[in-house]
Amino acid sequence: MEKGKTGIDGTVVLFPFMAHGHLNPFLELAQLLSTRIPSFTITIVSTPANILNVRPRFLSYPTVRFSELHFHISDDSLPADAQNTDTLTSQSAVTRFYHASESLQPSFHRLISQITESDGGRPPICIVSDMFLGWTVDVAHSFGSHHVPLYTSGPYAMSIYNSIWTHLPQRLTCADHLTFPDLPGVTIDRTQLSRSMKSATENDPSSDFTIRQSEYCRRSDGSLWNTVEVLERSSLDNWARSTGKPVWAIGPLLPNSSKEFERVGKLPGLSPLVCTEWLNQHPPNSVVYVSFGSQNTIPVALMIELAKGLEESGKAFIWVIRNPPGFEVGESFRAEWLPEGFEDRITERKQGLLVRNWAPQLEILSHESIGAFLSHCGWNSVLESLSRGVPIIGWPIESEQFYNSKLLEEELGVCVELARGIDDMINGGDVARMVRLVLEGEEMRRKSEVLREKMMTAVSVVEGVKGSSLQALDHFVETVRMWGQ
Ligand code: UDP
Repeated sequence: MEKGKTGIDGTVVLFPFMAHGHLNPFLELAQLLSTRIPSFTITIVSTPANILNVRPRFLSYPTVRFSELHFHISDDSLPADAQNTDTLTSQSAVTRFYHASESLQPSFHRLISQITESDGGRPPICIVSDMFLGWTVDVAHSFGSHHVPLYTSGPYAMSIYNSIWTHLPQRLTCADHLTFPDLPGVTIDRTQLSRSMKSATENDPSSDFTIRQSEYCRRSDGSLWNTVEVLERSSLDNWARSTGKPVWAIGPLLPNSSKEFERVGKLPGLSPLVCTEWLNQHPPNSVVYVSFGSQNTIPVALMIELAKGLEESGKAFIWVIRNPPGFEVGESFRAEWLPEGFEDRITERKQGLLVRNWAPQLEILSHESIGAFLSHCGWNSVLESLSRGVPIIGWPIESEQFYNSKLLEEELGVCVELARGIDDMINGGDVARMVRLVLEGEEMRRKSEVLREKMMTAVSVVEGVKGSSLQALDHFVETVRMWGQ
């Protein structure tokens, strides 16, 4: 392989999106690549604030570099702090940012020019971008670099998600059940459409944006997935067949501890020690952990029913509680958002622990007392739960979360769905029944345990044989080397 003037074998550029669940898999990938191909420079493109927070994690990775991308987006609807924030903390901010991101093309082009110049005129060998920054494919190809999107969700859900946006007229029919020409055998209930999909009109910006990004990604030179073959082999095969490009399932890309998250998260939370001490007081598989991820929140009426149900279940719970939609993250929590006396009662009985804003999720899920995860089914949460053998009570809120929940329930048998979206009124009695069902049930726990073992095998070497994710990573690395020749 010909070395550039700088003596390195080449550069791989990683361009993550700055939402929590998107950034973390990229950081994991950076570490893996820097270990596998130490003769390459791995350059992470990020915002100035992001870099500041993330840099300490890479102190022992000398080949990982950072390049600041300054956002000069003239979009009034964008959150005021988008230039300096490290991760966006609301669903609407994320959506608005995605839409505005395409105007970053000239700055990204300049940045790739600088990287090329600094390697004596040799462009990056490969640019790996977030799946929703598919527009980077044109920049990559204009330099002669290869382009690969890293999908931070699985192909089962992404295929459905893309299909719904693409077949807009179908989505706008009044039919209760939707089917898609490119997904034989898949039926979606109207209640599995996110709010933005339901309210979208023809030529709506979200639809246009998503379709455009997925079309860009079809021109890429392959795709990386933060998933594991055992979870969705046939969807991976279908994706490879329909794109005609290599597909690498290299997950689960998960950090070892929530400490890594603290550096990129902004919200004040509770220390792992406090949570662990609380969990230590409870027997194995007896506690339900409740969280809706880094962006989603539920309205007051639903918070009150959820609280009633958790209390009525008689089971112990940790609930990461955030301000309802319409209230800023920083605003103080109001007592009237919960049933009267709720927090005092559950604290006194040691039945519940309320964690404001942010919890050390990985440590919580790793604790033996956790027996179920009431989750919005964000893909990182799904992988974290399954890799700890914890069954899921699904309450998808937005985007592809509905199809993650569908995969978990219908294909893998490790989830029961409690509710869909925030227009679905739940009642406390249903919550209590579901929590008891999952915590006391054997079958889902057994299946989750089997999946946990298989997911671990995927990233291990057993009797000299590498697991599927290790093999996929090897193959990706070999491909990058080959591209560099
Ligand atoms: N997370 C966390 N503490 C919290 C909320 C979220 O550590 O209180 C982490 C969680 O472990 C996961 C990520 O944030 O890695 C959320 O990603 P996910 O894909 O599950 O959902 P999103 O936030 O993107 O909707």
